[in-house]
Amino acid sequence: MMGVALTIAGSDSGGGAGIQADLKTFQELGVFGTSALTAVTAQNTLGVHGVWPLGPEAIRAQMDAVFADFDVAAAKTGMLFSGEIIGEVAAGLAAAGNPVLVVDPVMIAKGGAHLLREEAIAAMRDKILPVATVITPNIPEAEVLAGMAIRSAQDMEEAGRRLIAMGAQSVVVKGGHMEEEKRACDLFMDGRGERIWLSAERIRTKDTHGTGCTFSAALTAFLAAGEPLEKAVGGAKRFIHAAISDGLGLGGGHGPTNHWA
Ligand code: PLP
Repeated sequence: MMGVALTIAGSDSGGGAGIQADLKTFQELGVFGTSALTAVTAQNTLGVHGVWPLGPEAIRAQMDAVFADFDVAAAKTGMLFSGEIIGEVAAGLAAAGNPVLVVDPVMIAKGGAHLLREEAIAAMRDKILPVATVITPNIPEAEVLAGMAIRSAQDMEEAGRRLIAMGAQSVVVKGGHMEEEKRACDLFMDGRGERIWLSAERIRTKDTHGTGCTFSAALTAFLAAGEPLEKAVGGAKRFIHAAISDGLGLGGGHGPTNHWA
């Protein structure tokens, strides 16, 4: 039977990030995509023009409806926006028996728009991290969650250790923001001491909108399809590398990555 994946995330009207990126990626990787929308954003490749969070009740009702009828093999969280939303999402996940969960701790869009309020960072740490099968922060997000500056591979390892100590089962610290590095190197770590570096050629392009969403959606899709975690991380890294390599040249700003497999 086909694997079912659920994304709990925000909408990007520009179609490159958020729920749209997640569902396109699920489709490409052969799993059935369901969604619980957390917020509506008005945005395009040039930036975010507005953010409208949904009420926690509406978010929870979507989650409950999906979980009641589908056997969700893996879920992911994206834009969660507020502490109130995080509390409700955590409760909804717990009610569903805490499924396999990929946490993309979305904080700030490339253009600078806040997709997570400051007040929600503690709730992300306390309520979402402990139920994460794997959390996928970029460097700035790992710095905020782990409470440290990250300047080196050793720092990435220390941040990974801290996030696991906070309750995440495993972590992928994404090194794409280390601009001075020739290669884009990500670090996978789990609580059993497994440590794998994933390295790919760095692609210099402005078409990088939605890369974090697409990577975490690909990881969720591979998990929903039954792949073991380490293999799923490798598959997601290959998928995002191809997606960035093959930019679509759409829009006047940071264009979307290519979601076709
Ligand atoms: N919009 C939504 C709804 C998102 O979830 C995200 C990222 O996770 C973004 C925008 C930001 O995308 P980027 O920073 O890649 O432009």
